[in-house]
Amino acid sequence: SKNESKQEEQNLIVGLRIRPLNEDEIIAGATPVAHKVDDNMVVLMDPTDDPDDILRANRSREKQYIFDVAFDGSATQKEVYEKTTKFLIPNVVNGYNATVFAYGATGAGKTYTMLGTAEERGIMARTMNDLFLEMEKTQEDMAYRVTVSFLEIYNEMIRDLLCPSSGVLDLREDSNGVQVAGLSKFQAKSTREIMDILIKGNKQRTQEPTVANKTSSRSHAVLQITVRQKNRIRDNTVQEVRMGKLFLIDLAGSERAANTQNRGKRMVEGAHINRSLLALGNCINALSDKHARKYINYRDSKLTRLLKDALGGNTKTVMIATISPASIHFEESRNTLVYADRAKNI
Ligand code: ADP
Ligand code: MG
Repeated sequence: SKNESKQEEQNLIVGLRIRPLNEDEIIAGATPVAHKVDDNMVVLMDPTDDPDDILRANRSREKQYIFDVAFDGSATQKEVYEKTTKFLIPNVVNGYNATVFAYGATGAGKTYTMLGTAEERGIMARTMNDLFLEMEKTQEDMAYRVTVSFLEIYNEMIRDLLCPSSGVLDLREDSNGVQVAGLSKFQAKSTREIMDILIKGNKQRTQEPTVANKTSSRSHAVLQITVRQKNRIRDNTVQEVRMGKLFLIDLAGSERAANTQNRGKRMVEGAHINRSLLALGNCINALSDKHARKYINYRDSKLTRLLKDALGGNTKTVMIATISPASIHFEESRNTLVYADRAKNI
């Protein structure tokens, strides 16, 4: 399809997912203001514009945004996975790096998209499942070693979500690239087992209550999958070992510290979250501009340092921006659409 061939040649894919309107929003009297027009276009209507205002009568209340792929509340988890991430699987098995991340305000659907639920599995478990299937295809000729880690970055500190007692971990750089020293690795065979591990790890994330939302995630959750591939056939030539890394990331809520009535500790968190998101945005923006060889400053945040060899170069990056369709979240949705639009291929 057109979508698939585009994915093959682009370094950056930007998707947009509008979740369904939820009960709380309906009770609050909210109406949907974000709509998917077609597979690439989303419109957002400004609910604060007065339709009877004659001076504004000719000005459109709707703004259009174009993406590589757009989803609305009717999209299944399977569909979102297949149209954003599935194409990366053979690349990773063959030694290429890639990053997939969900961006958006708290409550917009990031965790649902990346982790999902036991019944409605998200991108993380589906990716693992397909990776195993892909390796099975060539297991007669190739030997594989897969390691998986799950960490959070909170206030520019790295913690192991699968082994929280390890405390704060450091980033190191060696011949294999960027490493998190002391990070635990797990091996799991079935998708259900993986899902259990991920749900348990996700519960370890730093969740701090804010005025805006009681369960706002203030940390970035990073699932890192490393696949080492080795030829089984031994001869006199040096055995080639290929290593592919895939990062699947559930970013912290993008709502700005200034938008909530946060003070003190929460303000510091907001600044750190903004720093990583801004650094990530700058990196992605630089990548999307193929012709201008912009300087990419990975050192600006822990997140971009960790992703250094999985952003740019021969790697692929997929960004899934998530929004609520509700009028009461218009400002947040607009901010997300603008951020995603800026990241998009020119
Ligand atoms: P975030 O991680 O961005 O803060 P969540 O993923 O936790 O937001 O989503 C908020 C709530 O909305 C959760 O209860 C989640 O299950 C639900 N939700 C999000 N996206 C969808 C969707 N596409 N379909 C159904 N429910 C969704
Ligand atoms: Mg979340």
